[in-house]
Amino acid sequence: MTRTDVVVIGAGLGGLTAGAILAHDGRRVVVIERSNSVGGAASSYKVGDLFVEGSLHLTGDPHHPQDPKHAALTRAGALDGVQWIPAGALYEIRGGPLGTPFVLPDSLDGARAALTSRFPDAAAAIDRFLSEMQRLASAAGDGGLDAVFALSPEFSDWSVSLADKLQALFGDNEALKCAIAGNLSYVHDDTSQQWWVPFAIMQGGFLLAGARFVQGGSQRLSSAIARSIRKAGGDVLLRRFVSGIEIGEDGAASRITHTARDGGDPQTIEATTVIGNAAPATLAAMMPEAQAARLTDSYADRPLGLSLFALTLGLSAPPREFGVSSFVTQLLPDWMRTLASYAEGKALMANEPGDRMPPLALADYAAIDSGVPAPPYVLSVVGPDRLANWSGLSQDDYRAKRARWQQAIIHNLDRLYPGLAGAVTASSFNVAMSVQQYLGAPEGSVYGFAPLPPDGSGKPYRTPRTVLPGLYLASSYSGIGGHSGAIQSAALCADLILGDHAAD
Ligand SMILES: Cc1cc2nc3c(=O)[nH]c(=O)nc-3n(C[C@H](O)[C@H](O)[C@H](O)COP(=O)(O)OP(=O)(O)OC[C@H]3O[C@@H](n4cnc5c(N)ncnc54)[C@H](O)[C@@H]3O)c2cc1C
Repeated sequence: MTRTDVVVIGAGLGGLTAGAILAHDGRRVVVIERSNSVGGAASSYKVGDLFVEGSLHLTGDPHHPQDPKHAALTRAGALDGVQWIPAGALYEIRGGPLGTPFVLPDSLDGARAALTSRFPDAAAAIDRFLSEMQRLASAAGDGGLDAVFALSPEFSDWSVSLADKLQALFGDNEALKCAIAGNLSYVHDDTSQQWWVPFAIMQGGFLLAGARFVQGGSQRLSSAIARSIRKAGGDVLLRRFVSGIEIGEDGAASRITHTARDGGDPQTIEATTVIGNAAPATLAAMMPEAQAARLTDSYADRPLGLSLFALTLGLSAPPREFGVSSFVTQLLPDWMRTLASYAEGKALMANEPGDRMPPLALADYAAIDSGVPAPPYVLSVVGPDRLANWSGLSQDDYRAKRARWQQAIIHNLDRLYPGLAGAVTASSFNVAMSVQQYLGAPEGSVYGFAPLPPDGSGKPYRTPRTVLPGLYLASSYSGIGGHSGAIQSAALCADLILGDHAAD
């Protein structure tokens, strides 16, 4: 039995950031991660000679003081541990109801000018939406979700869905809705279920700070934060699986059991505080029944958010040679005539490939100074998915169906970018099932809880605090999802712990 101040379960961005801030504050921190390396979703790795970026297309520039990661990464000692490379634009969007492709710049002034020039009749509504996004994203960057909620009295439509918000502003102008919100899968997929405020924080954050890629891939950021933990005296244990959590009641220390991945070599750590970076459902599965029930019940009204598939293609020539013209391209399929129909995309892989393709987000890492090694030139293709599309199949049937969908996606890309299929020399295809297996993420959810409108119950929308004193969350589940959300809520988690244990 060893003793420490803080045990962190999981070395994703949320767990690492909270661990680093607390270690720099003098707490003894042990981070336990079941994988071979740190990062969780924010990982990059090789499959043969193919470089695979596990998650990152874009994040806001953390050097901007109102980016949600700015203060957190500064305190974690990792802001300058990597190079943040400009993405050039937020995205180029093609297809669906759009007609001529449209490029959305990654600044507020640039976006206002481009949108107004393309949709002059909607200039006033565009200006209003961008201004509201700016206010919400600035508040989120300055003071997190508390500061955002403080603005609620100023918005008469505070609790509406993104669908209703866009309809009220832009009517039936679906091309405009897609131009301004075509990267929907960066936060969710269903505009009728998506609260407009988290969307505004995400999109407004990109426009406020500018869009960036971590040179060399997201693994470099994760590794930089892990290094910072070790430098401050903390430990990061890899290939260790947390199998038991007993939260100490009434101030008693909590006990964490971890094992080798084959279940052998069990060890126990006693800690004053436990931080769950793994999902609440994953944590509950390791707890004694009564504690598990309390934790699970407290999230019973929170459905899980979106999963994603990610097809990484290695090409013998840069994607631009086949017509890919931006770092990030949002490809809307022809059947998508409204932004709302984006939600139909995630169920398509339940069936065999047919007439309909899901909406796709491409990242061409050769288009910017990404530091992603080439050749092969890496093109990442991401789209909405759900675990149910892949469950109930034998291993052979699962692999065969996944291979057919991979071929269908490549064939579709070849139609849009002639010659691309013939240049594919390597590939790696992760679907919702892979996300669930690799990250231990329930339902393969990549952004935590679904970003539904607030339910009016008075419960905090998201918080690192749990119903079990001594257990905190630092992950997508404790804030809004994505790199920024996980990192910012991890700083709030660290602050709550420092406040609760000021006397320790
Ligand atoms: C394909 C894809 C594309 C994305 N694109 C973007 C993007 O462009 N921009 C953006 O901002 N976000 C993007 N995201 C989302 C973003 O990567 C995630 O929201 C974020 O990284 C989640 O971080 P986290 O700390 O919440 O958890 P995770 O990364 O899920 O980490 C949880 C960790 O807990 C570990 N764990 C689980 N159970 C145990 C256990 N029993 N014992 C020990 N360890 C355990 C896991 O192995 C994992 O390392 C993308 C995600 C995906 C999958």
